[in-house]
Amino acid sequence: MTQKQVHVINHPMVQHKLTIMREKATKTGEFRSLLREISMLLGYEVMRDLPMTTRKIETPVATMEAPMLAGKEMAFVSIMRAGQGILDGMLRLVPTATVGHIGLYRDPKTLVAIEYYYKVPQDIHGRDTIVLDPMLATGHSAVAALDRLKESKPKSIKFVSLLCSPEGIEYFHEYHPDVPIFTAAIDQKLNEKGYIVPGLGDAGDRLFGTA
Ligand code: URA
Repeated sequence: MTQKQVHVINHPMVQHKLTIMREKATKTGEFRSLLREISMLLGYEVMRDLPMTTRKIETPVATMEAPMLAGKEMAFVSIMRAGQGILDGMLRLVPTATVGHIGLYRDPKTLVAIEYYYKVPQDIHGRDTIVLDPMLATGHSAVAALDRLKESKPKSIKFVSLLCSPEGIEYFHEYHPDVPIFTAAIDQKLNEKGYIVPGLGDAGDRLFGTA
């Protein structure tokens, strides 16, 4: 795979929904629904190159060799807690996927990611894996999550983030140049508190109403 790929999915439906999510007046319920809807649209692009096979089926009219997804189902790995918001949409697209969780929190002073939970499917080495985190900000959590996940040797890894900072992308690809990033937007910068500017605020707080 080509190194350091960043795919910005600038479909009008994605961009429209993202704008509503960014607005501070948008309340938790709507924010959650929009994240689920955008995640399905992002997932559609992320899964564009999944391997296909065919199966002989009978329609009411004729038999045909019809396209099907090939191989084992995929795995989603949610970086808690905000990854849960994307997971919801992805599971609607692929209800049979298995799911891993990586629990990380940011030390508010150092912004360093600290792991508190790790559990992924036992057979992840046979699965195409998509890692989910709505905000690629400093990149510390994403890099720590991928460092850990690679120990479990997934068959392949892609990373989905609703919003990215340029700094986060650079840091991410310094450590994991082999992992393609799929995002709805690359924003201007990080502020001194590690928030994406203009961003949408704290994704976890907005998703769960904990601000
Ligand atoms: N995490 C968030 O939820 N928002 C940011 O802007 C940065 C990190």
